[in-house]
Amino acid sequence: MKDSKNIDINGLMLPHIQSLETYQGVIPMDVMADRAGIPPEKVIRLNGNENPYGPSPRVVEALGNFQNYNHYPDPDQTKLRDALSDYLDVPADHIVAGNGSDEIIDLLLRMFVGQGDNIVIPTPTFGMYAFSTEICGGEAVSVERDEDFNIDVEAVNLAITPKTKGMFFPSPNNPTGNVTSEAQIRALLETGLLVVVDETYYEFCGQTVLPLLEEYSNLVVLRTFSKWAGLAGLRIGLGVMQPDLAATMMSMKPPYNVNLAAEIALLASLEDTPTLFSRVKNIVAERDRMMGLLQQVKGIKTWPSQANFILCQLPEGRGKEIYDGLCNRGIFLRYFGNDRLKDHIRASVGLPHETDAVVAALDELVNA
Ligand SMILES: *Cc1c(COP(=O)(O)O)cnc(C)c1O
Repeated sequence: MKDSKNIDINGLMLPHIQSLETYQGVIPMDVMADRAGIPPEKVIRLNGNENPYGPSPRVVEALGNFQNYNHYPDPDQTKLRDALSDYLDVPADHIVAGNGSDEIIDLLLRMFVGQGDNIVIPTPTFGMYAFSTEICGGEAVSVERDEDFNIDVEAVNLAITPKTKGMFFPSPNNPTGNVTSEAQIRALLETGLLVVVDETYYEFCGQTVLPLLEEYSNLVVLRTFSKWAGLAGLRIGLGVMQPDLAATMMSMKPPYNVNLAAEIALLASLEDTPTLFSRVKNIVAERDRMMGLLQQVKGIKTWPSQANFILCQLPEGRGKEIYDGLCNRGIFLRYFGNDRLKDHIRASVGLPHETDAVVAALDELVNA
């Protein structure tokens, strides 16, 4: 046998993978609790835009009653796509379900982006688009949003090169909370490039561009059950697109990408939408209450939100210190240490007592 120390296995790896920066996901509850030195049930976890009410009780029941976890799930997603077709009012052949919408983002980029290609991303925004683009060996081209975090369509157009395959953006945007107007989305679709509108937070705002799929074959709309339906841990999201694109995605995805538990949970959720929508209504009302309270805290500027989170601007140069102060109190929000979001923090909307604790702690830390 060769001396294993002489084998340069890393040298065989693709250079763009070797130099990849990790996507920073949400850390688990017990790790957070450990960090703050408090019991896990005392942790206030508002850093992942998760649903504070959990999944529908029907989901828990259906998962417990199901017996056949020894079977593989349906690679054609027949039941899933039919149920989603009813929910979205879009033909089933336009839909592909994924292991979270994160997987649909990854599949799209693998379909369109190779070495040297690029994707235009209006920033600040969700990090997965750039991350998955770079995994494909492509380049993520950031285009700054304007002073209100609206997409600068002119700047996007100027950033497009012959190597540009498309653009990705959420509406409402994460982490800024604002929607992109239909007029702007139409203007972006007119580029003829792939336009992916990530409607992860649709259920909190009610604005969608799904109807534009009839007019534009270059549009893909993403949805997920992670946030509004409380299924983040089961990983179920979807893309809506032209049937030929959907067929290609179906043929190249991992065959069993959506596991049986996620399928059962999705079907049970769609049978209990009244419960889920009434929770969404509570979350929206709580967001507006939280916004009112935060606006009364001296030294904090809030950004308007159509989603289940609020972006707050903290006093200049104090972002990290205030974030650390919150962590020490067992309150975990999302901190952005970079560029324009230096000194910004994003708070997911939780339960009323969590809102009160966050606002009180922020007031104390900012104005101490
Ligand atoms: C949370 C989030 C996602 C991830 O959704 P999953 O379905 O859980 O993968 C995608 N896009 C945006 C903008 C998000 O905020």
